[in-house]
Amino acid sequence: MKKILAFVILATTVSALHAQKLKANKKLVVQSVVDHETELIALSDAIWAHAETAFNEAESSKILADYAEKNGFTVERDVAGMPTAFVATYGSGKPVISILGEFDALPGISQKAQPTKEPLELGAAGHGCGHNLFGTGSLGAAIAIKELIEQGEISGTVKFFGTPAEEKFFGKIWMVEAGLWDDVDVNISWHPSAKNEADVQSSLALVDFKVEFFGQAAHASADPWNGRSASDALELYTTGINYYREHIKPTTRIHYHIQDGGQVVNVVPDYSKIWVRVRDPKRTEMTPVYERVKEMAEGAAIMANVDYKIALISGIYEVLVNRKGGEVMQKNLEILGPITYSAEETAFAKKIQEATGKPQIGMDSQIKPLEATKESPGGGSTDVGDVSWNVPNINLSVTTAPKDTPWHSWAVVACGGMSIGHKGMIYAAKAMSMTMLDLFEDQGLVEDIKTEFRERKGNQQYEAMIDGPPPVGQN
Ligand SMILES: [Zn+2]
Repeated sequence: MKKILAFVILATTVSALHAQKLKANKKLVVQSVVDHETELIALSDAIWAHAETAFNEAESSKILADYAEKNGFTVERDVAGMPTAFVATYGSGKPVISILGEFDALPGISQKAQPTKEPLELGAAGHGCGHNLFGTGSLGAAIAIKELIEQGEISGTVKFFGTPAEEKFFGKIWMVEAGLWDDVDVNISWHPSAKNEADVQSSLALVDFKVEFFGQAAHASADPWNGRSASDALELYTTGINYYREHIKPTTRIHYHIQDGGQVVNVVPDYSKIWVRVRDPKRTEMTPVYERVKEMAEGAAIMANVDYKIALISGIYEVLVNRKGGEVMQKNLEILGPITYSAEETAFAKKIQEATGKPQIGMDSQIKPLEATKESPGGGSTDVGDVSWNVPNINLSVTTAPKDTPWHSWAVVACGGMSIGHKGMIYAAKAMSMTMLDLFEDQGLVEDIKTEFRERKGNQQYEAMIDGPPPVGQN
């Protein structure tokens, strides 16, 4: 099945019409992606099959780092205190243009590359956010630029950042802390999606912390008066949080995950633990809510007569949008035009939509006009935010799953392991290499993008929301 679909992709690479529209160097970067297409798909499929979760991405990271090395990049592995983080560099001097690659999977959503729900391996992880495509597509774009530098068509430096643990611990924060973007002029990123767009929307800032309550164990029936219950504190704490929801702005989100609420019914629990997350479109609006939710832990501890401890896990910034950069990406999407799908792919998409209770309308791969940047974007969070406060960032979304597909689900895993995902990845590699090329060829454009970055950042200083080294080996 996979082999047949791969053949279909090869047969539908850049049409002659599109090739005519491209200037010489743009033709070269697009051709490079086409030349590497079979290998890139194989790398993506290998990462898809390994499906390694945050900080466990040893094989996935190695697959990409080895391929970068094989293609002439100098690769530095194990950077910023994370064994699966790496930087691949080619060229020298200015400009320095970088691109991000993620490769971690999500636990528990293993799935075969088929349009009905069936795990590849029961209980295993799956690429429900398409990061197998994300890392590989970005590396394909970096290689296309490298080849032009090598041929003397452009000069400067291209960097590929292998960024681990996006789904859980936000590995990029420690890479930012290590100063890895300090010499970079502009950064490029993309994300698999159910639509194509030069993404000029921000994301939600968030902060993660753990609260632990410490009580006194006792027999739950024989001598409960000797007990002080850590789970009582936990219940009182979540009750406080849930009452508080009525008094926060509609843009703010509070989530929690109870990690330990006691073990058995006949013991007064002396220990409990909860993971709490606060989000808002603006970090500055999020912070007071975070402070309040932290204070509530003390209130709950007083009521239950237990001790408590709060530990920051990490936090991420909202994405600082760069519209100038988005306009450059938009032009390249318009040159490439929409992705086209075979009858088999459309049928696959409709089956996914049927299985997930969505209208059976197939894929959405049209190129829409560049959107206005919304004040409150909604949606999720990403550690690309932290990068974007340190270097101007251009973001892209590319269709790798049917319209309205539930994200972080088996349906996204399924599409990421077959030609719908592959096509999106190759398309993203082309669009990003074309955009990077524009930056290499136009210093004025780089300066305009940097000027907008400085204006949007204003006098706000970036300070990482982390406390200590990356939690490698922790859960
Ligand atoms: Zn993701």
